[in-house]
Amino acid sequence: MIDSKLPNLGTTIFTTMSQLAAETGAINLSQGFPDFDGPQALRDAVAHHVATGHNQYPPMAGLPALREQVALKVQRFYGAQVSAEHEVTITPGATQAIFCAIQALVRPGDEVIVFNPTYDSYEPSVQLAGGCCVHVPLQAPAFGIDWQRLHDAIGPRTRVIMLNSPHNPSGALLSMADLNRLAELIAHRDIYVISDEVYEHLVYDGVAHASVLACPALYARAFVVSSFGKTYHVTGWKTGYVIAPAVLTRELRKVHQFVSFCAVTPLQWALAGFMAAHPEHLDELPAFYQAKRDLFCRLLGESQFGFTPAPGTYFQLVDYADIRPDLSDVEMSLWLTREHGVACIPVSVFCQQPDPNWRMVRLCFAKREETLRDAAARLCAI
Ligand code: PMP
Ligand code: GLN
Repeated sequence: MIDSKLPNLGTTIFTTMSQLAAETGAINLSQGFPDFDGPQALRDAVAHHVATGHNQYPPMAGLPALREQVALKVQRFYGAQVSAEHEVTITPGATQAIFCAIQALVRPGDEVIVFNPTYDSYEPSVQLAGGCCVHVPLQAPAFGIDWQRLHDAIGPRTRVIMLNSPHNPSGALLSMADLNRLAELIAHRDIYVISDEVYEHLVYDGVAHASVLACPALYARAFVVSSFGKTYHVTGWKTGYVIAPAVLTRELRKVHQFVSFCAVTPLQWALAGFMAAHPEHLDELPAFYQAKRDLFCRLLGESQFGFTPAPGTYFQLVDYADIRPDLSDVEMSLWLTREHGVACIPVSVFCQQPDPNWRMVRLCFAKREETLRDAAARLCAI
């Protein structure tokens, strides 16, 4: 038997539920990905760059033209002046970016604060660096930060605080006031921040995303991570980026260069060209996904599920306490998939100590209208 470095880890819930959806023929609202394609011009651009010889290694830190587009974008949205050369790194996905940032920061014995529910890749990445996670529960139903608990969780070994806004799985948003408060809380401590903002453009009801990039006191000690997969409807491209001050970027790149060295070349060319030609894509995204959220919520209004429309992300939490309070959320997810043909994600798998009273599952609404109507009809029939 191998002496495993991650003895308690199985296969991710996303793989498990997508597999079950495929086996049972259920509508897959579990793993988060669109059932439609990214923009035609973007996909054509990849074909063009593959055909015209952009197929060898790009610079380790990313194609300069793409880093430049990212720098322009964060200036436009967050008023942040970042150096494309020294502060922006293109990575093969946000997961890899987060992994590299954690490896760059966390030393054996260090503690990393994560908010529960928390995205599933964080803790194994911390464990592989020799650190351990301290879990701070968010406050349901709005999933805001409990500042007293956060304050109590910070100790001499705290090295990193992981943020995720818009938040997977709840859709909750941090505000600028939250970021300023956090900056004050850690102002005189040697603590860094990794801010997972992969859903930065999926924020609804006219609210603006509060990025760590817009809070200089936090940015000075932060890695800000995003994913082109979410923003351009191409999750399978696994292309993302990290923005961090030059001194932190140097450390990140030391890890990145030996985890993957670089991200995929023709995808970077295509994204750079598309971002330059179609800046309006980003402006249109909130309305595009809000229409899907609103449709799905309107349809689910006829069901026995309880919910508050998600303020961000492409996930909707629904409460099933009025339907099958006897089932845990894992059991409920299996029952919904097998008996009612809709696959979802249980929320407890994102928590170290799930609240035993929660009766919530996560549904992904990044789907075509017909898929949402079909899924909602099945959910309303329960
Ligand atoms: N962070 C969060 C919160 C996510 O939901 C995802 C989903 N894929 C990722 C990171 C990873 O993004 P990528 O696919 O670019 O690795
Ligand atoms: N982020 C996606 C989700 O939350 C899944 C990504 C993955 O499967 N690794 O559903």
